[in-house]
Amino acid sequence: MSRIHNFSAGPSALPTSVLERARDELLDWGGTGMSVMEMSHRSKAYVGIAEQAEANLRELLAIPANYKVLFLQGGATGQFAAIPMNLLRSKTTVCYVNTGIWSKKAIGEAKRYATVKVAASAEAESFSTIPARGEWAVDPDAAYLHYTSNETIGGVEFQEIPDAGGLPLVADMSSNILSRSLDVSRFGLIYAGAQKNMGPAGITVVIVRDDLLGQTLPGTPSIFDYQQQAENGSMLNTPPTYSWYLLGLVLEWLKDQGGLAAIEAVNIRKSGKLYAAIDQSPFYSNPVDPAHRSRMNVPFRIANDDLEKTFLAEAKNAGLVNLEGHRSVGGFRASIYNAMPEAGVDALIAFMAEFERKHG
Ligand SMILES: *Cc1c(COP(=O)(O)O)cnc(C)c1O
Repeated sequence: MSRIHNFSAGPSALPTSVLERARDELLDWGGTGMSVMEMSHRSKAYVGIAEQAEANLRELLAIPANYKVLFLQGGATGQFAAIPMNLLRSKTTVCYVNTGIWSKKAIGEAKRYATVKVAASAEAESFSTIPARGEWAVDPDAAYLHYTSNETIGGVEFQEIPDAGGLPLVADMSSNILSRSLDVSRFGLIYAGAQKNMGPAGITVVIVRDDLLGQTLPGTPSIFDYQQQAENGSMLNTPPTYSWYLLGLVLEWLKDQGGLAAIEAVNIRKSGKLYAAIDQSPFYSNPVDPAHRSRMNVPFRIANDDLEKTFLAEAKNAGLVNLEGHRSVGGFRASIYNAMPEAGVDALIAFMAEFERKHG
């Protein structure tokens, strides 16, 4: 068996040791004689697995006690709707920062429930930067301020938590949660689909300050009602049990790596060397303002677009796959989440140099 280096943006590579452990436990979890997939979500064994995952997430992110942690379905896209439904409360306006394709989708969905004021937008700059905080127009009467901490397609990442101007701060962290240290107390709500940096598809984590709960918009489906989900341990209906279990294994792996500070150091190193390789070459380029480049998703182009297919084919032969850019932007994109080993980034850099030598 040989595992290749998978640069997919999501669903994306999982740590090999996590998959090996899942394999070893597949038929008989912990001497129960059954697979996690076959367990009742109400069973003692399964509730233990679910609670351990939450405890590990709380430990890794140092989540304060006044925050609920929910494990939901419907992806980050479901949360685009659930957030206004739950957090609008008696207000009518919400504030969003538009830094790319995912911000725009979140804005589009919020418009179904509220008046959206765009506090700042980088659309005129083709989403290659983040507008300076001093230029944002944050409406003090808005229910919350929403931003996308890492734009998975554009490769733009907030390096600092923005000042929320007194509003509850809401962040879509789907593609950079658990990649760096984080002060959760700065937020009203954090959400993230698991399939980028936390686990497999099918489960979405919501971390929400408890004073924001309990004022859900009339007509909100119960499964999207944070208060109801919190009261039921995220088991208002059958949760995605296996995805939750795998997420838990990824969290244990992350603890074994030394936690967020340790993985952040690795992520700085991995992304730093890849950007350096791109920047020192006349053949490769990255369009993003260096101050706002993502450590997780590195888009790049080559000087001669005609060579794109050749690049992808030769990369595949070298064991480097899923490097094509998002269909909406083209070019290439290397997604280098926590589970991408540094050796994978080294192999990509070596391949890029060799390709440039041959074709540049
Ligand atoms: C992938 C992604 C989404 C969409 O996630 P789904 O789980 O497919 O709904 C939303 N926001 C960001 C930043 C993403 O990377």
